Amino acid sequence: MAEARILVIEDEAPIRRFLRIAVESAGFGFSEAGRGRQGIEMAATGAPDLVLLDLGLPDMDGRQVITSIREWSQVPILVLSVRDAETEKIAALDAGADDYVTKPFATGELLARIRALLRSRKAPETEKTNIVAGDLSIDLAAHLVRVAGAEVKLTRKEFDVLALLARYAGRLVTHRQLLAAVWGPAHEDDAHYLRIAIGHIRDKLGDDAGNPRYILTEPGVGYRLIGGAG
Ligand code: CA
Repeated sequence: MAEARILVIEDEAPIRRFLRIAVESAGFGFSEAGRGRQGIEMAATGAPDLVLLDLGLPDMDGRQVITSIREWSQVPILVLSVRDAETEKIAALDAGADDYVTKPFATGELLARIRALLRSRKAPETEKTNIVAGDLSIDLAAHLVRVAGAEVKLTRKEFDVLALLARYAGRLVTHRQLLAAVWGPAHEDDAHYLRIAIGHIRDKLGDDAGNPRYILTEPGVGYRLIGGAG
């Protein structure tokens, strides 16, 4: 299999250098752009396997870069965001980004996010019917959830929430995405539905929000299922 190629769009040269070392040492190909317009052109001509995008660019808003790339490409976009910029992150995800990492980020976390995005791109979720994360297993076809082999009874909506997180295991799923998929587009803003369902799922799985084994809260943004092999 050819190495995956990562395009970095980031105006700060020291961060680009750091990313080049991290990405290349992990065995990925690397190309870089310092401005948004140049990045869009390189995404179009170079057909990268993943785009790492800084939201604060000198010539255009990172969100415009996402919107522009999404007009013709479903390439995974991982956003580099500054700490506590929740509104910015959510806007980027709503514009079509797939996930984010917060600066300053650890190399390990960055590479884990990159691999999760590349993996879910290579293996369309429809092909997987059984998802395993630690001792949690979710059989999407049979609607069966087990923890350490013991079946866990979830309501239909609780199962649908967990199943969506499982299909994107390791990746962030936003509140809006979960609400729209499980309750319908009219309920995109009914965050309390989701909060209650997640609480019930955690109780039934024996998970602890403060020290999660399965479901990680991304405050103000969404949730992700931890790990997820298979
Ligand atoms: Ca910047």
